[in-house]
Amino acid sequence: MVPVVMRSSLAGLALRWLVNASALPFVGAALALAACVAPPAPAPAPADVELVVLGIAQDGGLPHFGCEQPCCTEARRTGRVLYPSALGVVDRRGGTPKLLLVEATPRIEEQVALLHDTAGVHGRGRQPVDAVLTTHAHLGHYLGLAWFGREVAGSRAIPLHASPRFCAFVEAQAPWKQLVALQQIAPRPFAVGEPFAPWPGLTITAVQVPHRDEFSDTMAFVLRGPNRAVLFVPDVDAWEKSPGLLDRLLDGVDVAYLDGTFYDGRELPDRNLAEIPHPLMARTMELLGERARRRPGTLRFLHMNHSNPVLHDAALRARIEMSGFGVAAQGERVAL
Ligand SMILES: [Zn+2]
Ligand SMILES: [Zn+2]
Ligand SMILES: [Zn+2]
Repeated sequence: MVPVVMRSSLAGLALRWLVNASALPFVGAALALAACVAPPAPAPAPADVELVVLGIAQDGGLPHFGCEQPCCTEARRTGRVLYPSALGVVDRRGGTPKLLLVEATPRIEEQVALLHDTAGVHGRGRQPVDAVLTTHAHLGHYLGLAWFGREVAGSRAIPLHASPRFCAFVEAQAPWKQLVALQQIAPRPFAVGEPFAPWPGLTITAVQVPHRDEFSDTMAFVLRGPNRAVLFVPDVDAWEKSPGLLDRLLDGVDVAYLDGTFYDGRELPDRNLAEIPHPLMARTMELLGERARRRPGTLRFLHMNHSNPVLHDAALRARIEMSGFGVAAQGERVAL
């Protein structure tokens, strides 16, 4: 079986371990055990093509601008930082590793530094990545494109793979159109639903999903390497609004990163549950419980809101993991 390589950090210690997909339910237990008694495991050889989670929070990250509740005051006090949801892909086939950034968040500097660290690359200068992929035009998913512009990196023609509507938006609207005019980013519209390849051997399929689509439509992505396929769907409306969508998205994927913005609504005491646009984690777990039991650890949540109790309640998180689901960690890796 192709191993899944994962890494996390706990209490400031870099911890790295190698698990088989069949052992994924025990990732939480392995983490606790490793922190207490196990000798440090030898670093596994990196996979030829691997995906790394560069952020797990909702657009505003943690701590969250404008929040003075304990979720964020405590994070400010301890220096805990969670970046907005993003992925990276490292492709080590060939001489120099190739790097794909999925989502350009406002924390792009730290996240690409983490990607470089994972890939073991340096000296890339103004071309920090080989390509960028964005799901939609909401703050936490694309604002980081500005960092490729003249005020910061001043990059040269970084391919931006996005939907035709997203590409038309950045080509027409300031400040994005300046990046296009100066050839710092190069929009490459993909055909929704048709596989495309940022480079040979890495295939991506975009699936349109319902969401609050003011400036662009919204995509989920299936990223397919030589051995595995991973689904990324950080933002989507409640599953009930799109019968069959969840099954279609999960068809043929090995690992799925799913919208975990809100847990069960307890974090939004003043809101009518029916008005929350996102699928609640508790509802997704109800719908996919059987799949999680059969393939534990392969359904993993990200895009958690700063107030989501999963980010703050270790016992709740342990219960989620015992039921076969996973909560993504910044820095975890999946062999593609
Ligand atoms: Zn978002
Ligand atoms: Zn908060
Ligand atoms: Zn959004």
